[in-house]
Amino acid sequence: QAKAAGRNTMCFFDPAMQTVVSARAALDADLRQGLSLQQFMLHYQPQVDSQGRITGAEALLRWQHPSRGMVAPMQFIPAAEASGLILPLGAWVLEQACAQLVAWSRQPATAALELAVNVSPRQFHQADFVQQVMGALIRSGASPRLLKLELTEGLLLDDVEASIAKMSLLAAAGIGISLDDFGTGYSSLAYLKRLPLSQLKIDRSFVRDILHNTDDAAITKTILTLASSMGLSAIAEGVESAEQQNYLARQGCLAFQGYLFGPPLPVAQFEALLQPEQLARA
Ligand code: C2E
Ligand code: MG
Ligand code: MG
Ligand code: MG
Repeated sequence: QAKAAGRNTMCFFDPAMQTVVSARAALDADLRQGLSLQQFMLHYQPQVDSQGRITGAEALLRWQHPSRGMVAPMQFIPAAEASGLILPLGAWVLEQACAQLVAWSRQPATAALELAVNVSPRQFHQADFVQQVMGALIRSGASPRLLKLELTEGLLLDDVEASIAKMSLLAAAGIGISLDDFGTGYSSLAYLKRLPLSQLKIDRSFVRDILHNTDDAAITKTILTLASSMGLSAIAEGVESAEQQNYLARQGCLAFQGYLFGPPLPVAQFEALLQPEQLARA
């Protein structure tokens, strides 16, 4: 039968292709099941100020799979994005993040913590994305001022006008908007000026070699100057050493995230990192 249908159909029987297709299908089915079986959890990575005090966290998604083990986001988010499963998954992340903000708001030691949540392109481009975020905030009672959304440049370029409209509504509600992985995309400065952002997040690829690579040091300095002249805050990601932090601080960076301050951790371990004086106030 394959022969009768012509040579081109041969590719459907390519065993290597078949393996890729069925591995993807298995992953999709697993992801779907993982969501209903509550195998997903958020880890929290500290964000600190110039004194090293924890001001908040970035929520990072983890998948605890019974046989695959702890699966990193890069191994399932692209598949979830392709299958559309990122929509219920992303909605779950938002609900979970809001629930965490509410739990923190009940203790003086944690009440001021901000929480940054990553948003995927497909999630952001849903027509009702703003309503989803507002709904999660209202249903939970979390404060919009403590929620920050991390968007990437590429995501915004897909439909600039619609993106700006959505961002404006979110910003007007008091929600912070951080441009993640900043410097790796293609945004022009003219366009950047039009975005209602609150923060630029310097990509970790520039931080990694900042002490030895003069290009990276120059790019970082430029981003910090840009942020300050546009009235935005800036945070450096991937800070692993005190030398990197000091260098960034000398260039005017006031906020930091990276293994130096703590890896992404389950909430109890994250809370254990809070300064004793921060907890003493509780
Ligand atoms: P990202 O938003 O840029 O997150 C930062 C990544 O850098 C995290 O990887 C974090 O664990 C890692 N990292 C933090 N500090 C350091 C450091 O000092 N050194 C090094 N080498 N790495 C550091 P992770 O958790 O594997 O997440 C990878 C990406 O997956 C994230 O990049 C984000 O784009 C995506 N992601 C994570 N959670 C979510 C989510 O809930 N929704 C969506 N849509 N994407 C998510
Ligand atoms: Mg991020
Ligand atoms: Mg990032
Ligand atoms: Mg990154």
